[in-house]
Amino acid sequence: MRRRLRSTCKWGGTVLTVLLFVVWVGSAWWWYNFIPRSASYAMAIERGTLAVEWVTPAPTLPDRYLGWHTGWSRPFRLMWWFRGESGTVVRGGTATEVVVPLWFGAMIFGLPTIILWYRDRRRAPGLCIKCGYDLRGADHKVCPECGATPLPSRTTS
Ligand SMILES: [Zn+2]
Repeated sequence: MRRRLRSTCKWGGTVLTVLLFVVWVGSAWWWYNFIPRSASYAMAIERGTLAVEWVTPAPTLPDRYLGWHTGWSRPFRLMWWFRGESGTVVRGGTATEVVVPLWFGAMIFGLPTIILWYRDRRRAPGLCIKCGYDLRGADHKVCPECGATPLPSRTTS
């Protein structure tokens, strides 16, 4: 059960990291934004960042601004760092904007994933190569924990 969870985290983390990396690099050329029907916030993925903006009171926007939009980013420019801004007057309301660089998101998922992969690669002698179960002290033909076979030759010491 624990092993399954660990494997899920490892693969889930890998998929998320790769996805975030692709979105990060892709967002240098291609932007997306989203505004819900209530227009209480706006979200954009552009130039290597995720930007969220809240405007209070929520403005009334024409329908064509609502929902998803996408297009080419021009000129090519990546933004690398966090940004926060508050108090700007936009469309008759006060705006608060938070910008998070996407490489940071990729790192948040990527670092623990790399650690999980790395730790699974290193097994001390006498432990099952597949699951790390301690095989010393008895003559096992297969690992009693996960059934892995054949056992590593360095098991006996
Ligand atoms: Zn095992």
